[in-house]
Parts: sequence; structure tokens; C-alpha cells
Amino acid sequence: MSIDVEALFTKALGLGAPWRIEKVDLDTAKRRIDFHLVCDEKRLDCPACHAGEQGIHDRIEREWRHLDLFQFEAYLHAKVPRVHCLECGKSLLTEVPWARPGSKFTLLFEALALSLCKDLPVLQAAKLLRCVDKKVWRFINHYVPEARKLDDMSEVKDIGIDETSLHKGQSYITVVHDLKKKRLLFATEGKDHKTVVKFSDDLKAHGGNPEQIEHVCQDMSAAFAKGVGEALPNAEICYDRFHIAAMAGEAMQEVHRFEMKTNVKLIKEALGDDTKVLKNLRWGMLKDPSDWNQKQTTAMHKLQRTTLQSARAWSLKMDLRKVYNNALVSNDKQQAQAELKDWLSWAKRSRLEPFKKLAVTLQGKFDAVVRGMLDHRNNAYVEAMNGLLQQTKRAARGYRDARNFISIAYLRMSKLKHLPNNPLEMAAPLTMPTGAPGVLTHRCM
Ligand SMILES: [Zn+2]
Repeated sequence: MSIDVEALFTKALGLGAPWRIEKVDLDTAKRRIDFHLVCDEKRLDCPACHAGEQGIHDRIEREWRHLDLFQFEAYLHAKVPRVHCLECGKSLLTEVPWARPGSKFTLLFEALALSLCKDLPVLQAAKLLRCVDKKVWRFINHYVPEARKLDDMSEVKDIGIDETSLHKGQSYITVVHDLKKKRLLFATEGKDHKTVVKFSDDLKAHGGNPEQIEHVCQDMSAAFAKGVGEALPNAEICYDRFHIAAMAGEAMQEVHRFEMKTNVKLIKEALGDDTKVLKNLRWGMLKDPSDWNQKQTTAMHKLQRTTLQSARAWSLKMDLRKVYNNALVSNDKQQAQAELKDWLSWAKRSRLEPFKKLAVTLQGKFDAVVRGMLDHRNNAYVEAMNGLLQQTKRAARGYRDARNFISIAYLRMSKLKHLPNNPLEMAAPLTMPTGAPGVLTHRCM
């Protein structure tokens, strides 16, 4: 039985008329396989005005990198017909069904690259693909905006707004999440009130309605609150646990740092004159008690038997946590209000400036804070999102400008439905696309 290799690969690559493989070259030394394609047609439709049966002016040699075949890098080559149209007068290259116009990679290669970047840092994905990482960024920056154009936000009602910094302490990005569908809706540079206005415009562009937003979970930023007031008229703000816990943690650290600076003698008298003890104390105060090691446990037990400011600060932080946990269990608004009031009054009487300040802030937003105490589902999500954002930053390492960061955040966190599928996870048999070449249904080869 003889096998027609060209016919076999024409079929395997999902090609059909007018395209077929004319020749296959295998170079085992260079570890590459080259497929040479021809177009049998003498007349083609005009790529611009679609007038049928136009003459071919000339043919231009092009090369595309394709998915590896076994251990070989695979390349497609074709002389692409340039159609000279008598209707519109233009001379344009016909579109090929396996690649986007202008791209030097097949659609399936790009789709695989995109899928890899959902889980791997871009640099690592590029290494696996043996391709320059700048090219991978180009795929991402092409497909993600295309997929977002078709993103549907008509059902969005509950959102979380947060900010993250790209580099330490500078260039901020505001992110907006859908709390129900647990996905990233929008990201933009900056952290002022205009970011919320921009989100509202983007929401409208995706079939959503700013007046339909009922619930906004956010940090204490006055800018976001202003933006919500301006752009989301029916939204009720709630301050999430994650950010308030972080504020209490910062207040505690401020007290401790101040005491270390001004009264370290007192601390050493109470805990012992050993730098290691102080280190165990610092970590013990930051960590959850269930994560303390033996030495941290000893240091923290000693601390609790003292009258140090650090001891009081730690108790205040832990007590606020208890207030939140109780609210989570009871889901009782009145109880939550009463317990928060008690805590605020203790914090105000604590003679610890950072906690007095925190109490005044929380008092001023009392109702929105209580709403956040009872809304534990959203709180957990905001915290989880923060972790995902950190991973996204690592994924963009080396290319962490705002545009790249936002694109990769959408790719990983938006659950976009209109991205090309991973070609290595075939759900359906390969067929030629039914739509125009270059659309986002990449089952063409
Ligand atoms: Zn034309």
C-alpha cells in the first residue's frame, strides 16, 4: 500500500480546496518540517469588496510557524495570490484560512500560546514555544481586546472595586470585578474617581446598565466613593473585611514600631533582652495564632501578660477580627452593630493614636462597614482576587507596563468566552472555518 504523504497532510491540517500541500520537506538535522502549500485557483474573490472571479496579479511567498509536529518545528509556506480587482481597483493578498492577515504564525499556534499564558508566565510560555516573548505579547494584545468586544455585561449587579500598584508605590491600576460571576470586568490606569466613570462607560459598551448596579464592595478610598456617586446612581457601598483587617493590621504595626523606637527598654524588660525574641514577637503579632511556631507562641504569651502598648494593639486587632467572625456566624445585623460599637468605643479609649484614628474613620462609614461585615461571600472573593492579581503581576514580569498587565489580567481573570480554544484540547473534529478567515473560530487546520 502506498501512502500519498502530501494528501495525508493536506487532510491532517484540515485544508480543502483551493489549498493543498504540494511538498513536504523533513530536515532531521535542523529538526524542522516544512509544508509547501499551493492554491489551485486561477481566479479568486476580491478580499476588499468580495467581487467574485477576479484575476490573480501575482503570488507572494509567505511563511508561517505552525504547531510542532512530533519533535519538529513545523512551518507552512505558500505563494499567496494577490488579487487584482476590476470592480474596486485594489490589488490585495487573498486571506489564507490558517492565519490572520499579517501574522507569521498560524491561528492554532497563536491559540496554543494564548492558552499557555493563562497558566504560565509569558516568558516561560514563550520559552516552551521556542518563540520570542514579544511575539506572545502581540498575540495577547490582539486576541484579548477582540474577545472583550463580545463580552456580555448585561447581568452585572454586584461589583467589587479595588486598586493595585504595578510597581512599588507607583502607577496604579483600578480593577472592577463581578462579584456574582467572580470575574474581572474592567481594569484601567489610575485610582481616582474617573476610573469608576470609565468603568461605567465600558459597562454600557458591553450591554450593561450603570443604573442596575446595586452593590459596590470597595476599600475606604474617598475617590472610589465619589466615582460611585457620580456614575452608579443606585449603588450601595459596602466596605469589605479584607481592607478593614489590613487597616487594623497597619494600625497595630504603627503602635509597635513607635513603641520599639521610644520604649524598647520596657519591651526588653518584659520579654527578655534578645533580638531573636523581638523578631519572634514581630512575626507573632503579624501571623494568625494557628500559624505560630513554638518560639512565637512563647513570645506572644509573654506579651499578653504585659501592659505594653503593643499588647493592647494586638488585642484590638484580634478583637476586631472576632467581631467580624461573629457577624459571619450570626448574620445578625443588630448584633453586628452592637459589637462594632463596643469595639469602636474601646479603640477610642485605647490611648493608641492609630486605633483612635481608625475608629473615627470606621465610625464615619458605620452603615457601610456593617454591610461589609455581613457580606462574607464578597469578602472572601476580594481577598482571592488580590492573590490572583499578584500572580498576574508575576506572569507579566519583564513587560509590566499598564497595557500588558491589563491584557494579561483580562486573559486570566475575565473568563472571556470568545478567546480561541486550546488546539491541544480538541472538543470537536477539525474542520475548515465556515466564516471568514481570521474570525475567532480557530478550527481551521
Ligand atoms: Zn474589489
